[in-house]
Amino acid sequence: LGLLGLTSGAIIFWLILTLARRGDTMGARIRRGLARGEFRVVYQPIVRLSDGACLGGEALVRWQQRDGTMISPDRFIPVAEAEGLIERLTDQIIEHVFADIGKFLAERPTVWIAINLSAPDVESDRVRGRLDRLRKTHGVAADQIVLEATERTLIDARRAQSSMRSFRDAGYRLTIDDFGTGYSSLAYLATLPVDGLKLDKTFVDSIGSGTPADDVMGHILSLAATLGLDVAAEGIEHGAQADYLIARGVTYGQGWLFARAMEAETFGAYVDGRMAV
Ligand code: C2E
Ligand code: CA
Ligand code: CA
Ligand code: CA
Repeated sequence: LGLLGLTSGAIIFWLILTLARRGDTMGARIRRGLARGEFRVVYQPIVRLSDGACLGGEALVRWQQRDGTMISPDRFIPVAEAEGLIERLTDQIIEHVFADIGKFLAERPTVWIAINLSAPDVESDRVRGRLDRLRKTHGVAADQIVLEATERTLIDARRAQSSMRSFRDAGYRLTIDDFGTGYSSLAYLATLPVDGLKLDKTFVDSIGSGTPADDVMGHILSLAATLGLDVAAEGIEHGAQADYLIARGVTYGQGWLFARAMEAETFGAYVDGRMAV
């Protein structure tokens, strides 16, 4: 009987602990973070590889919690997607982008900014509506906005195709992010209304390694050339990687070799200092 009491006591203790933790899952923390406005955006320059001129940048979300700890988007974006919170988060990110650099972009019509979209963002009219409204308010042209749709979006091929076309028809530029890491067939790329693709860092890391990823990248780059798609490569850290990519016809590059993600004002100064002539 004593053992039974001990066991049920332990079970009750475990139950209470689990319930208490429940209120603090990643999903709950994201909800709280959204309500408190804990998310902000930093900007990583994107350069033209041939001459290093800065043509724009990518908006990257940052989450600093109240206690000061930073959580990587690689950890919370998948949870936000799984728990139906990504659209609210994307809404906030888009609002930040225009508040931070809307005026800057309006005054520099050749500069563009890439914004990451998850599958539900691409498929909803809400994101389109918000982008249209903010663009008009600030006087930013649609072709200054590049939407990076992660390749996971393409799982539901037909839906992605029609929603992508509606963004395209409105004048936005579309690229497929993390290309080569998802599930879409290369041939399918030909039927999508996209302007370009973003080669994932894993491929850039594999340059010169002689591994299968290195091979696959070669095929992706030939295919992109055949289809007339612009290619941007991310995660470039070494000069040798940049040289290889230039030789293979890659137009744009992004990575620590050039610049890390930075606050809006620093980004503005960086762009102005290296704008294409
Ligand atoms: P991503 O879209 O592939 O973004 C590139 C990631 O590589 C960024 O990490 C960037 O900071 C990092 N990076 C860029 N250059 C280098 C480099 O030279 N070396 C190394 N080691 N890393 C580099 P970050 O900001 O941690 O974002 C991680 C992922 O989280 C992004 O991958 C993207 O999938 C997602 N994410 C970030 N911001 C957003 C956002 O605003 N919305 C959505 N939906 N997803 C986002
Ligand atoms: Ca991206
Ligand atoms: Ca990614
Ligand atoms: Ca990536």
